Amino acid sequence: MTSAPQLAAQLAKLNAAQNAYASQFVNELLAAACQQGASDVHLHPTASGLEVRWRIDGVLQSVGTFSPGEAADVVSRMKVLAGLLTYRTDVPQEGRLGDAVSGVGFQPAQKIEMRVSTFPTLYGERAVVRIFAAEGRYLYPEDLGLPEEVHASLLRKLEETSGALLITGPAGSGKTTTAYAAIRHLARKVAGSKSLVSLEDPIEVAIPGIAQSQVNAAAGFDLAAGLRSLMRQDPEVILVGEIRDRPAAETAFQAALTGHLVLTTFHASNCTSALSRLADMGIEPYLLRSGVRGVLSQRLVRKLCVCAQPIERDEQKLALPVASGRVAGKCEACSSTGYSGRLVLAEILPPLEGDLAAAVLARRDSQALFSTAVSAGLIPLLTRACQAVEAGQTDPAEIRRVLGFDE
Ligand SMILES: [Zn+2]
Repeated sequence: MTSAPQLAAQLAKLNAAQNAYASQFVNELLAAACQQGASDVHLHPTASGLEVRWRIDGVLQSVGTFSPGEAADVVSRMKVLAGLLTYRTDVPQEGRLGDAVSGVGFQPAQKIEMRVSTFPTLYGERAVVRIFAAEGRYLYPEDLGLPEEVHASLLRKLEETSGALLITGPAGSGKTTTAYAAIRHLARKVAGSKSLVSLEDPIEVAIPGIAQSQVNAAAGFDLAAGLRSLMRQDPEVILVGEIRDRPAAETAFQAALTGHLVLTTFHASNCTSALSRLADMGIEPYLLRSGVRGVLSQRLVRKLCVCAQPIERDEQKLALPVASGRVAGKCEACSSTGYSGRLVLAEILPPLEGDLAAAVLARRDSQALFSTAVSAGLIPLLTRACQAVEAGQTDPAEIRRVLGFDE
């Protein structure tokens, strides 16, 4: 494994005046990023050089600031690999790096999908590479580490033959991994006896047993249009990429209410705010009431490294209602971050019936829905978070980083 300081030393050794500089730089950077399990790599031009950072376990870390290269610059090299227009530096561009990478000097263990986006900035083009590593460790729901009743409830909901099952959370909360695990579970279980299809943006992982498709908005094949056509393909379970607008939400609910199980991801901070956001998008309360089969909301928090120390003073609890716990320490094993690996916090909406159904139909706000859901048995993310702190798995600072202060 190449750590950030090791990579920085390696990159600093390269000769910026050489022609091969940019391609060596890119190869070493991407190889190290894949090894480290980075999800994003940022190349950010500044007055003093090219600043390189990567995101590991959800947190951005600096690698260092390097020469952009004299003979051929690093961002241009990235653009060549992604098939972008190198002579256009004044407009944002996007492209795939996937196949190009294996040909340029390193062979990732699995085929790794990478996407590059560029954006013009004051000191030149900024490039961000998203790395969609094949998550070999989190294939099925039982691999995700969900709380037991959330896991059991998710499996029950996957037995349904109609309705929408929403996996929610902000970007980087692992919701796509959960959605893939859920559809893999179905593919494994029904073994060809059910028609499983997907419409994604983009396809991040290929899954045997599912007819996967990718939207192409430029060709007018967006989520809503694609879903309407897909319904004529006799599907029983549809995995839909993240719902971001009203047409997509409406079409997904039409599908959910006409005898299809729709599995999708949605940006919302918790289960109940997912309901109010859908209502704000224009989905009628009665459609929510009869169409939503389940809402799972999740977050990823970093786990404490072995160097963690016990909490000694109350202010270390950062106002969390916890009796005890540990806080991050520093050691070489965790590169002084205090954390190693991540765990999932999850909550699942109680069945939409009784008072909770009435609150949805009465268009109550997110806060009112939340307290009604808690009365109906919801164990909120914050409660899960406090349990994880008391179990010594993570610390209050990490909970505040991920959940904020207003939860
Ligand atoms: Zn440590």
